[in-house]
Amino acid sequence: MNPELEQKLYIEFPKLFAQKDLDNSKSLMGYGCCCGDGWYAILRGACERTQAVCDKEGFQVEFVQVKGKFDRLRVYYDLKVADAYSKTIDGFDAIVGGILEEAEGESLETCEVCGGILEGAEEVRAKRTPCRCWEDV
Ligand SMILES: [Zn+2]
Repeated sequence: MNPELEQKLYIEFPKLFAQKDLDNSKSLMGYGCCCGDGWYAILRGACERTQAVCDKEGFQVEFVQVKGKFDRLRVYYDLKVADAYSKTIDGFDAIVGGILEEAEGESLETCEVCGGILEGAEEVRAKRTPCRCWEDV
């Protein structure tokens, strides 16, 4: 992802991206957001909803990896909590998982390059030519 867009996310959601400066052996977040700019809006929306849930529930999520995998967006995360919360955390985990799954679903139908809606998504993905924006390259 374009470093400028990446920085915007880091500045807007410092808690989610707390691991961005860790050594690569400790967190893969050090590699940055490894996906195309076309998914910026999806990722930003997911960040916004995830942080809102964290603030409401009093837990915190830290992303450990953000990448495009098999042509879809994947976000892996750690939950920062005390053991005493382990019971309530299951429900929280499901909420965050749901938000990120939704983003993954959106990415499947969105061009990773330009952010446009993919038509005949499955077919174009198979050819690895995301959408018409690639024809001009
Ligand atoms: Zn495109």
